[in-house]
Amino acid sequence: MPEMTPSEAVEQYFHQGAEVIGLPAEMIELLTVPDREVTAQVPVRRDDGSLLVVLGYRVQHNGARGPYKGGIRYHPDADIDEVRALASLMTWKTAVADLPFGGAKGGIQVDPAGLSARELERMTRTFTNAVQDVLGPYRDVPAPDVNTNAQIMAWLMDQYGLIHGYTPAVVTGKPIALGGAPGRDAATGRGLGFVLAAHEARTGGDLAGRRVAIQGFGNVGSWLARDLHERGARVVGVSDVHGAVMDPDGIDVAALVAHVGLGRPLPAFAAPRSGTNDDLLALECDVLVPAALGGAITATNVDRVAASIVLEGANHPVTPEADAVLTSRGVTVIPDILANAGGVIGSYFEWTMNIQQFRWKEERFNNELHDRLTAAYTAVADEAATHGVSLRTGAYALGIARVAEAVRLRGYVD
Ligand code: NAD
Repeated sequence: MPEMTPSEAVEQYFHQGAEVIGLPAEMIELLTVPDREVTAQVPVRRDDGSLLVVLGYRVQHNGARGPYKGGIRYHPDADIDEVRALASLMTWKTAVADLPFGGAKGGIQVDPAGLSARELERMTRTFTNAVQDVLGPYRDVPAPDVNTNAQIMAWLMDQYGLIHGYTPAVVTGKPIALGGAPGRDAATGRGLGFVLAAHEARTGGDLAGRRVAIQGFGNVGSWLARDLHERGARVVGVSDVHGAVMDPDGIDVAALVAHVGLGRPLPAFAAPRSGTNDDLLALECDVLVPAALGGAITATNVDRVAASIVLEGANHPVTPEADAVLTSRGVTVIPDILANAGGVIGSYFEWTMNIQQFRWKEERFNNELHDRLTAAYTAVADEAATHGVSLRTGAYALGIARVAEAVRLRGYVD
């Protein structure tokens, strides 16, 4: 049987959460259909004079709790189904983190590896023009995601500003020089560390000495590796799109960050073992962190997972079929909508700073991030314990109940 599409998978998780809280049928219907979807043609003039025409999307899933919020990714798999799934995840994530935001996601279905910096800039500006009328600090606020970064957010802000005037709060994850927040870049990875620490504290475990394997060494994976290394955990394996490196005694994370920073292929790093991404997923470890793309752990490879905790750094990295297997085996899955919420919490701080025209010190940013994620973990773990369900279903139940309350109070559904 073929695995579900990303939006089918997220919908299945949604239904599991909705069932736990007895969500009425009308509300289920309202919360499964996105508020608005924009599909735009994005023509890009290549440096060689030829024309590349790609598709861009912005899906606004639910805005009952506040302005829509969610990243923009540039990837060949970023089709409307995937963007729809990711937008829905953002609705539940912002609610679990108790932020005054709704959920959205954007994407351009393109492989950016083949584009020059100028081509990337032109593509970003054209996409911004196509969606600018549904964006705004109190409408919809994008952020970076896979293959997008602070520079791309700077172009988006600039292009939006050419039409609407100077508006830094229209996008988060900006460079510090343009109103970005010190701490935002590291927030998702560091936040994963805070959530894991909260879980260890509640279950009587200890991060020190824990063996951790991380799939993906981009923004999320590399900051998490640094954070866990500092906390005394052992990073025994790391991978990226090119392959994996493994060391049972623990990888020298600072040296690996420096190696990758020089543009060198990750698998060329000197380590006792190198291998494939599948080898990384099967590595003997305590905590496995999929921090690359969705659908990484599936019915096909789940039996090879040896970890006792799966910490979801990426969005929807575990399919529902694999999730059921892990849960039945007693593996704790700390779900994306809780685990990687540090990114959107950091974006919330940046947005508030832009609106107030005031900058926090990084220490305050990190302290607030820690407090909010610890509170979110506790609320999810309590919800899961109350209903006798997994952390994932508990997180969905909590997020859905909060969004449903806002929808009811606004008067859409009784
Ligand atoms: P990124 O583009 O900085 O890094 C992605 C990493 O994944 C790279 O190391 C890349 O080589 C690796 N990768 C790509 N394809 C792979 C494959 N097939 N196998 C193994 N590795 C592969 O992206 P990021 O910002 O670190 O995002 C990673 C994940 O985290 C995404 O799912 C994203 O949606 C999620 N996320 C990101 C943020 C954020 O603030 N950046 C916030 C929440 C969630």
